[in-house]
Amino acid sequence: MQSENRPIIEIKNVSKFFGEKTALDHINLTVNKGEFVTILGPSGCGKTTLLRLIAGFQTASEGSLCIAGKEVTQTPPHKRPVNTVFQKYALFPHLNVFDNIAFGLKLKKMPKPEMERKVKAALKMVGMTDYEYRDVNSLSGGQQQRVAIARAIVNEPEVLLLDEPLAALDLKMRKDMQMELKEMHKSLGITFVYVTHDQEEALTLSDRIVVMSEGKIQQIGTPTDIYNEPVNSFVADFIGESNILNGTMIRDGLVNFCGHDFECVDKGFGENKPVDVVVRPEDLYIFPVSDAAQLRGVVQSCIFKGVHYEMTVLCGNYELVVQDYHCFPVGDEVGLLVKPFDIHIMKKERTENTF
Ligand code: ATP
Repeated sequence: MQSENRPIIEIKNVSKFFGEKTALDHINLTVNKGEFVTILGPSGCGKTTLLRLIAGFQTASEGSLCIAGKEVTQTPPHKRPVNTVFQKYALFPHLNVFDNIAFGLKLKKMPKPEMERKVKAALKMVGMTDYEYRDVNSLSGGQQQRVAIARAIVNEPEVLLLDEPLAALDLKMRKDMQMELKEMHKSLGITFVYVTHDQEEALTLSDRIVVMSEGKIQQIGTPTDIYNEPVNSFVADFIGESNILNGTMIRDGLVNFCGHDFECVDKGFGENKPVDVVVRPEDLYIFPVSDAAQLRGVVQSCIFKGVHYEMTVLCGNYELVVQDYHCFPVGDEVGLLVKPFDIHIMKKERTENTF
């Protein structure tokens, strides 16, 4: 299902303190109905705290939270129209698949025929139709996670919260489950809020990504926005590999870095101003050295990455990471080129020695 432009979660000015520690610092976020929103950031940035706040396992120290149009800042978890899927599947080991999924429905004293219909529908949704009487201990990690998702969707919550649900799976299973989650999201029509520290997973799954660092939101945007137009060097560095270089704006549309003047498209940074320059490894063209080169350097390393090679090239005092489908051997003298629109200029936020 497509997301609607109707807010389902509205987080306004929320902060969370644990003693002296500020885990969340003035968070403002609106999630629309049907959206797949991922909260992404390094360990300790506050993403789990934010998810737990939406779930109701934590309460905000400041600010307010609305879900489905109702103020729920102080509402306990079981009275919120949300369900959570955790990294550790948290299934009851002594119950079979059916009873694990039906657990919450039994507590609500749902009539048996309706309960059976709902459990079967949930199992179908996660692709485990014939598994209802299996012992959960006999299932693989991926199957257990599917049961956990079935349990979370069986009572049709408005919002499904997923806290690193694929983290315990091996790479192949993780990739398969990513595709399945995307499919499930489409067919269920439920809003997904997903927490991960894996940028590739966030880019693959999400309608929008919320990038966090140190309790603050750094950027909210679509995967392409976040990847192509990072607002600062933190986001650029966190989302995929980046060369982040010290530069000086000569004037609008002309920047100096690595000892060379480059045309760029950015404006409004002022003349002779220090800036951060971000260039993605795949945007640097590498070729045998020639007069066409903007930069010349010597290959320091070349690693095969599956589809492409990743090389480091020393240009004067600067080491740049470059990707190409060909390997340029260590010690080769090479030329580099970058197009003006692939040079991203950012306000200087780092101290000189940060990177
Ligand atoms: P990870 O990916 O490692 O789980 P995270 O981004 O989810 O990290 P949080 O678990 O939200 O981060 O924690 C944010 C900060 O708040 C961390 O510094 C953490 O130590 C702190 N914190 C979280 N819960 C508590 C708590 N109950 N008491 C004290 N400090 C806490």
